[in-house]
Amino acid sequence: MFLELNEDEQLVLDTFRRFLDKEVRPFARGLGDRPPSMEEAKDLFQRMSPFGVGAMYVPESDGGYEFSNMLTGRMIEEICHVDGGLGGLVSLQDGAVGTFARFAPQHLKDRYLADLIAGRRTLCTAITEPGVGSNPRNVLTRATPTGRGTLRIVGEKTWISNAHVSDLAVVVCRTSEDPRAPLSQVLIDREEQGYESTNLRKLGLNTWPTGQLMIDCEVPEDNIIGVEGGGLSQTLRSFERARCFVGVISCGIARAALEAAIDYARTREQWGKVIAGHQTIQIKLAEAAADLDAARLLVYRGLALVDRGARCDTQTAMAKLFATEAGIRITHRCLEVFGANGLSPEYPIQGLYRDARVLSVPDGTSDIQRLLIGRNLTGVSAF
Ligand SMILES: Cc1cc2nc3c(=O)[nH]c(=O)nc-3n(C[C@H](O)[C@H](O)[C@H](O)COP(=O)(O)OP(=O)(O)OC[C@H]3O[C@@H](n4cnc5c(N)ncnc54)[C@H](O)[C@@H]3O)c2cc1C
Repeated sequence: MFLELNEDEQLVLDTFRRFLDKEVRPFARGLGDRPPSMEEAKDLFQRMSPFGVGAMYVPESDGGYEFSNMLTGRMIEEICHVDGGLGGLVSLQDGAVGTFARFAPQHLKDRYLADLIAGRRTLCTAITEPGVGSNPRNVLTRATPTGRGTLRIVGEKTWISNAHVSDLAVVVCRTSEDPRAPLSQVLIDREEQGYESTNLRKLGLNTWPTGQLMIDCEVPEDNIIGVEGGGLSQTLRSFERARCFVGVISCGIARAALEAAIDYARTREQWGKVIAGHQTIQIKLAEAAADLDAARLLVYRGLALVDRGARCDTQTAMAKLFATEAGIRITHRCLEVFGANGLSPEYPIQGLYRDARVLSVPDGTSDIQRLLIGRNLTGVSAF
């Protein structure tokens, strides 16, 4: 399988890496452990826009760049190498805009797509609710027809990426009171129809805002994204790609942790020599490096399969499961290389460890990935 980038793609990646070092690293340092404001998030999207970010998944016919998922993944990995949270923020916006371009009706694309591509507007995707996580089929949010050509949407969403910095939300809901009715996706414009949001702090990755949406508004009936009643299959289908990107984020963070641990091991001295000269330190670094390579290979394979349009839910579940669990193992080992300094906020390694820990949850927990793989292996569902 072809996992390399071509010459042009490599050039884009190298240029982007230099831009990240010069402009995004100082911005991330300034943020520390807080999410960006709406203005800061938009400013970041707009500065990244000339590199294609925001439109990497948007078809060329809609004014996008339509990069391969492999190139997009490598670019997101580079952002995460600088700051995992900002990588999450950018990855979610870029993916949501691409999905919007693929499913939204023309009148909504005419109205919003150019602004979304340019980073002047921001978009989140809201499935999870306070009582609904691993099984999106149970969504309670309702969009009831009013008889005036509008839908009244009432519900609460939680842990939504970029909620608090969003202008627009694609909300997964039911367009009928019947709890067995199929799910749909409906667009809400914060300024026009209104929704409230709050930010939720997490163990790590706090520069990637996650928050709640409180929704009670009316939207035009033609704000349905894709097919009415097709919301569940659209959501499940989008997970194949999205799961690779959670793996990508983990790989970027793990790479940063391994590099930091190698640098530290080559300079810190104990027992009259650098600690890199002690076998246990080399074992930790070697195992972390092997885990990282395996994670990247599985994730890149997933991206290549998504690029081919192949059905690959088993392989992308494996990529997400392995890469996020490996990220936790790698950052744990690297933290140990630092001794007590690994526990100090003066050293970034504890932040990388907390960041990596978050990633076994979004887009299906590790156990949900195991159950998906098990179901595809055996043909028997254990859900
Ligand atoms: C950083 C981050 C970003 C996120 N972004 C978004 C977003 O943009 N949009 C969005 O809609 N959501 C988002 N989420 C929410 C995320 O998708 C959910 O948290 C996730 O799907 C798990 O749901 P839950 O937290 O409700 O856990 P629950 O479903 O309550 O699960 C709790 C535990 O039970 C286990 N479990 C559940 N069902 C089963 C089963 N059948 N068999 C065995 N074990 C089971 C789980 O593995 C887990 O260990 C985000 C979360 C995070 C942390």
